[in-house]
Amino acid sequence: MTSLSDANPADLPSLKRALRSADPEGLLQPIPMDRIFIGENSIDAICGFMGSIMPGVNVLMVADSTPIYRGAENVKEKIYGLLSGRYMVKRLVLSGGGHDIRADEAASRLIQDSMGIADCVIGIGGGTITDLCKHAVYSSGKRVPLFIVQTVLSVNAFSDGVSVMLKQGVKRTAPTMFPTALAIDLALVRQAPFERTLSGFGDLMATWTAPADWFLSHKIGMNRNYHSAPYTILAKQNYELLVNAGKLKENDGKTFETLARVLTLSGLAMGIAGESSPASGTEHLMVHLLDMAAESKNSEIALHGAQVGAASLLASIAWDIFLDTFEPSNIDVDSCFPKEADMKKKVYQAFAALDAGGKAADECWNDYKKKLVTWRDNKDNFIRFLSAWPLFRKKVRTMVQKPEFLCECMQRAGAPTRFCQMGIDADTAKWAITNCHLFRNRFTLADMLFYTGWWNDDFINRITGRAHSMDAGL
Ligand SMILES: [Zn+2]
Repeated sequence: MTSLSDANPADLPSLKRALRSADPEGLLQPIPMDRIFIGENSIDAICGFMGSIMPGVNVLMVADSTPIYRGAENVKEKIYGLLSGRYMVKRLVLSGGGHDIRADEAASRLIQDSMGIADCVIGIGGGTITDLCKHAVYSSGKRVPLFIVQTVLSVNAFSDGVSVMLKQGVKRTAPTMFPTALAIDLALVRQAPFERTLSGFGDLMATWTAPADWFLSHKIGMNRNYHSAPYTILAKQNYELLVNAGKLKENDGKTFETLARVLTLSGLAMGIAGESSPASGTEHLMVHLLDMAAESKNSEIALHGAQVGAASLLASIAWDIFLDTFEPSNIDVDSCFPKEADMKKKVYQAFAALDAGGKAADECWNDYKKKLVTWRDNKDNFIRFLSAWPLFRKKVRTMVQKPEFLCECMQRAGAPTRFCQMGIDADTAKWAITNCHLFRNRFTLADMLFYTGWWNDDFINRITGRAHSMDAGL
């Protein structure tokens, strides 16, 4: 039987079997997808598969107006040709009116209004089209199958059951649905703009920090869903990807296939966990803040995965310092539980400037104060954690990678390692790093370091200084 660490998302029956044997108690969420195609002819394969589960003849095809090529062939026209020979196909072309299309309610509503009597929806595009199609089909209440043809390896969000939607300018994760089937055509994604591919590679850097955050949160009693399987399905193949990172720019087919597999597994890891924790920790919190800062200044938001890659290096330095030098006997436990009023002040100081009405700060505080309450409730767990520190350290050392190694892999791939390469200035980046723990009700290493008195300007300078020595960070 295939082991979890060699999981192939294109062989879902084997993957589901391996997951069942790793999870005899049934703690993980099921994967409600029927098929994933990763290969050289995935477009033909998904169009053929559609016929085997289509309940009728009406298809809604959703895409944006950008032509996408596979070799010299226009992919959207090819799919339209393949489908219109068999079905009644209605085309919806989304347009951003001069800008990139945005995943918001209005665009989702447009898809829902076009669904009419559609027996299925096929979305062709990147993360935004996919998020919109998932949101629209789910919100329509019509339980019709959703097929996605992924045109770029830019993020891990294709094979999961949530959509990142813009609400009043702020990105919010909404539970939606998994696609019924997903196709990644390797010949097609190899032709996508390379910076988008590097963004997908960067998004996966979180694999070396987020699961450790999740495990820490579990050990403190702040998270009840922890399971080792989501990390196990990612780690081995993701490590292979790191080692071969330099081959991405050579357009190496095998390395692209590994990237496609690992990105898909990363989405599935979040799906089976029932939350984004296996792929989103301290590094993603920093990126959420950077996105909010960009929104508030009306400046362009940098590519998600590119930011995640650079932020992951900083988070991995924090993990490295923590694992190397944390000494439980130096900790005065009672001083690790700050007063609510002090934290409220900190949250408002951090976020008040984001919008005129102070709505962002209100929202952050609402979420943060829940974390503060749970942290207090888990004081005994924290004491137990301190006494079991050597065991924890040993385990986490096997989950993380040395920051210098991660950085070298990113540099070999040609991925950006500094925020300034993405148009993010040093002050904004420092603000995001410093305040990332105040943003959400998610316990990560940054919280642990803050409560134990480490997460201050000196420490942030230490992290960014070490990053600077490897040509990364600010
Ligand atoms: Zn991400």
